[in-house]
Amino acid sequence: MRSMNSPRRHPNTTLLHCGRDSQRFDGLVNVPVCRGSTLLAESFDVWERARQGGNPYAHYGRFGTATTHAFERAINELEGGHGSRVFPSGLSACTHALLAFLSSGDHALFSDSVYGPTRVFAERVLKRLGVAVDYFDPCDPEDLARQLRDSTRLVFVEAPGSLTFEMIDLPRVCAIAHSASAIVVMDNTWATPLGCRPFELGVDVSLHAATKYIVGHSDALLGVATATTDAWERLRDGAQDFGETAGPDDLYLALRGLRTLGVRLERHAANARCLVDQLADHPMIASVHYPASPRDPGYALWQRDFDGASGLFGVRLKTTERDAIERFFDRLELFGIGLSWGGFESLALPVGTPLRSRAQANGEGYLVRFHAGLEQACDLLADLDQALAALDPRVSVAVPSAVNASAG
Ligand SMILES: *Cc1c(COP(=O)(O)O)cnc(C)c1O
Repeated sequence: MRSMNSPRRHPNTTLLHCGRDSQRFDGLVNVPVCRGSTLLAESFDVWERARQGGNPYAHYGRFGTATTHAFERAINELEGGHGSRVFPSGLSACTHALLAFLSSGDHALFSDSVYGPTRVFAERVLKRLGVAVDYFDPCDPEDLARQLRDSTRLVFVEAPGSLTFEMIDLPRVCAIAHSASAIVVMDNTWATPLGCRPFELGVDVSLHAATKYIVGHSDALLGVATATTDAWERLRDGAQDFGETAGPDDLYLALRGLRTLGVRLERHAANARCLVDQLADHPMIASVHYPASPRDPGYALWQRDFDGASGLFGVRLKTTERDAIERFFDRLELFGIGLSWGGFESLALPVGTPLRSRAQANGEGYLVRFHAGLEQACDLLADLDQALAALDPRVSVAVPSAVNASAG
C-alpha cells in the first residue's frame, strides 16, 4: 500500500481520494455497495476484539458496512473533524445532534433564520422533553449573549440562514457560547465542506443535509454530522442509541456525488452570481440575498470566514399580488417548483413571508428562493427574464390565456 502520509492538499483534490480503499476491493476505484446486517467474525478472539467501550456489539450492520465507513471517513477528512456519523436524512442529523447534547432542564438557543423543520423539532419535541428553547437575531451576536442562562447547553446556527441568507459572525457566536460552556452545532449544508470549515471557526459539531450538494443529483436523502474530539462521543452515542443508520445504496450515491462536488459547486456558484448580479437591478425585484455578492450585507463575513459559495439565493419580489406571482411561477420553464436543492437542476420555491420569532427578517416583498442549477447561465437568465415580465401588471393584459379571454 502506498504511503498515507500525504502532504496537505487542496480540498478539491482530497475530494477525489478520500474514503477510497481499492486494495480491499479487487482494485475497484469505488467502494462498492456493501449490503449487510450480520457481519461474521472469523473467530471468538476476533469477535471479542471488535467490542468497543460503550458498544460491545459494534460488529453489526447498524454501525455500518464498508460503504458507510468509506463515506464517514471521507466527510470527516474533508471537515477536519474527529469522527462522522451518517443519518437517514439531513433533518435526522439535525435532530439527533440536538438530542445527543440536550437533557430536560437545559436551555438551547437557535438562530432565528434556522431551517424550518429544525425549528419545528425544537418547538414540538425539545419543549415537550423539558428543554427550554429561545431564538437569537442571526445578525446580532450580542442578542445571543443577552439570552444566555446558566442552563444554556447548546447554540444551533446556520450560516447563511435558511431562505433569507443572513450571515452569522461565527467566531464571535462560538466565543460567546463557549464562555457559557455551551457547545455550538452548525448546519453547514449551504456551503458544503468545501465552502466552510466550521471547526476552524470554533464550531463543535458540523452537519449536512447530504441530500443537497453532496448527493448532488436529487436522487437520495442522507444526513451526516461530524464532531471535534471533545464532542465526538456524545454525537456518536446519540446516533447509536437511537439506532440511526443509512442504507448502502444511498451512501454509494453520496460517495459518487462527492467526487464531483468541487466542479459542480464552481458552476452552481458562478451561475448564482450571474443571476444575482442581473436580478439586483430588475425593476420588479426589491432585493436579492446572496452573501457571496459584494452588495450583500453579509459579504464581509462571508469573505472573511468562507472559502466558497453555492447556487442557492433569495429574491424579494416587489409585488405580493397572488395572480402576478402565479403568472411568474407558471411561466418559468427551466426552474422547477419544488423543495430541496443541490441537485443539477434549477429550482424556484415560493416562500412568501419567512417565519421569525425574534428579529425581523431582512427585506420586504414576496420571498422566492432560487437554486441555480448547472444549466448554461444565459438560458437561466432568459427564462427568469421572460417570467419576471409577467409580474408587471401592464404585461398581464397582453398575455392571451383562456381565463383572461373568458373573463372578457
Ligand atoms: C434540506 C435541509 C435540511 C434537511 O435535509 P433532508 O435531507 O431534506 O432531511 C437540513 N438543513 C438544511 C439547511 C436544509 O436545507
